[in-house]
Amino acid sequence: MPQLKDNFDRKFEYLRLSITDECNFKCNYCLPEGYQRSHQDEFLSHQEIKNLVNAFSELGTKKVRITGGEPSLRKDFPDIIKSVSAIKGIQKVATTTNGYRLQKDAQQWFDAGLDAINVSIDSLDAKTFHLITGKNIFQKVMDGVNACVEAGYQQVKINSVLMKGVNDKDLDLYINWIKTHPIQLRFIELMQTGDNADFFDKHHLSGLWIKEKLLSEGWVQKIPLSHDGPAQIFSHDEFEGEVGLIMPYSQDFCKSCNRLRVSSIGKLHLCLFGEEGVDLRDLLVDASQKEALKERITLALNDKKESHYLQSGNTGATPHLASIGG
Ligand code: SAM
Ligand code: SF4
Repeated sequence: MPQLKDNFDRKFEYLRLSITDECNFKCNYCLPEGYQRSHQDEFLSHQEIKNLVNAFSELGTKKVRITGGEPSLRKDFPDIIKSVSAIKGIQKVATTTNGYRLQKDAQQWFDAGLDAINVSIDSLDAKTFHLITGKNIFQKVMDGVNACVEAGYQQVKINSVLMKGVNDKDLDLYINWIKTHPIQLRFIELMQTGDNADFFDKHHLSGLWIKEKLLSEGWVQKIPLSHDGPAQIFSHDEFEGEVGLIMPYSQDFCKSCNRLRVSSIGKLHLCLFGEEGVDLRDLLVDASQKEALKERITLALNDKKESHYLQSGNTGATPHLASIGG
């Protein structure tokens, strides 16, 4: 089986596929004014998605994360899960969601073949949650997390972007929560995008602060597994849950990059930050174009850069992460 690789010997077994850039939340660091459509393109159709993932699976992709915008806003989301999980070679299908539909739909997605869920919960305080997301539905999202556990998901992860002066005070609440809950918390350091420069300057908080706190409280950094990608994972004997830190500004973050992205309008992005994307859409029309599609993807990998150069203020062409999926 061929395996997608780049010129720096990084292997790509993981595809993040955005199926819509639309969202119903107004997270203050992502879409503070709410979603505004900035293009006329249709989102990838169910059939285009099948053609795309088929080609990726023949290039060694084993895991697909369906993301957005908010992926669950698409009515055909369960059908997409079902089709992607049925593709030969795809061993794991995951999603990242804001949790809006979780309470109602977690079981349906599980039955369709979804293996893992990341739920974004940026505060454990209902008021702060409302302030960040624009939605006063903290309890509904938490009930959704419980619905995932009941549905039988092996893995429920919680994403949180900790920000100075916004929700940094919640860190202890999060840590206490996982004392008795087998959840992996993933703290994602706020990233600067094209649209959030002022917000970033005011609220960016280095993940090193969390790392130092964890180490001083007896948490131990685990030896990274190949599929962890750039996350640093910590565990503690007295806690059922784990903590993962995603620190894109740390040195060597890009060395363990294992993922490629395709946007909801069919562009291949070699990095979350950086380029306009390689258009794949003309090769998604018919399953018979698979070989040409595989060739275009393989050739594109030659252009993947060694680093995102975020440290030097590069925000690439990404206005906000809803546009190509975080
Ligand atoms: N709407 C879904 C959600 O929020 O989970 C999926 C898409 S969202 C773009 C994916 C992840 O990216 C979320 O966990 C979100 O917190 C994160 N994210 C968005 N903008 C970010 C930024 N500027 N810096 C760091 N993380 C960001
Ligand atoms: Fe929507 Fe997710 Fe962006 Fe929040 S982080 S605005 S839920 S896409």
